[in-house]
Amino acid sequence: MNVPRRALLGAGAALAAAPLWPSAAEAAAPFRNDLPPAWYRFRIGEFEATVISDGRLPLGEPGPAFPASPPAEITALMQSNFLPVNSANLEQNALIVNTGRHLVLFDTGMGDSMGPASQMFGPTTGRLLRNMRAAGIEPAQIDMVILTHAHCDHCWALVDAQGNRNFPNAQVALSETDLRYWTDPANKTGPAFMTAFIDGATKNLNAYRDRLVMVRDGAEVVPGIQAISAPGHTLGHTMYAVTSGNRTVVNTGDLAHHQVLLLRRPLWEFSFDTDPRMSAQTRARALERFAGERTQLLSYHFSWPGLGHVAKEQEGYAWIPTAMDLTALE
Ligand SMILES: [Zn+2]
Repeated sequence: MNVPRRALLGAGAALAAAPLWPSAAEAAAPFRNDLPPAWYRFRIGEFEATVISDGRLPLGEPGPAFPASPPAEITALMQSNFLPVNSANLEQNALIVNTGRHLVLFDTGMGDSMGPASQMFGPTTGRLLRNMRAAGIEPAQIDMVILTHAHCDHCWALVDAQGNRNFPNAQVALSETDLRYWTDPANKTGPAFMTAFIDGATKNLNAYRDRLVMVRDGAEVVPGIQAISAPGHTLGHTMYAVTSGNRTVVNTGDLAHHQVLLLRRPLWEFSFDTDPRMSAQTRARALERFAGERTQLLSYHFSWPGLGHVAKEQEGYAWIPTAMDLTALE
């Protein structure tokens, strides 16, 4: 340290006689090795919105997650977007909307309700409740949990490991199609994850049996929040338009999982899709509409905090993140 500092100050500089800062500062500061709570607050018209992170969900090698895609093209897209070619990382951006009448949480993250299966994507998930409390919101205040679909990373934190409701005062809204599909043991076929997915959805949704709300395409779930059916990723997968005043943000759930691979190539298939072709068609149609209408989106798995727009680019779309305002609530 001393040599470059002397060199910077210049030989014979008067300042060199007296140290510029106390010698204690020369001791290396310990690394903190911790992170701030991950939440971000903004307004949608008169509504107050908060994005809460459930933590990163790493997919590992992107190839297996996008099985029908040419590996060289995956690599090229990752490289040109300055992303590691051998690990596709998804975020988990859960939206909370306070409409003034209702406090609505969209999706719950992975939680810890299913033991080791809750960490099937590693130890970085399951942070929603902690981050929510850090943002000043208690789980007991939530009066509605709206699910985009009934996959592990969206509904497994409805209950805790003992099966107790994490949101004791909430109703749970989802499509009837997803409720039926993901609680039907007859669907434990195909990929190995199906058994865990169905067991997990069943445990979590059963705890709210007497307070389920069935979401219908086009209908308002609560005033200002409208369901938009977007089937394919799951057969009952649903997006939600949140509208107040002249502002709308569409919570797109899992319409697209990766802001580069599935936006630049909307017709690529994703390994966790129930119906990959239907999912791709739904994605292509919705993205075209969102780009044309310049709709602001909140995407569950895109880079934190998942707010932005899609813009047409070549045969696909570019993701334009909304700049975070950390000084004011617009
Ligand atoms: Zn997901």
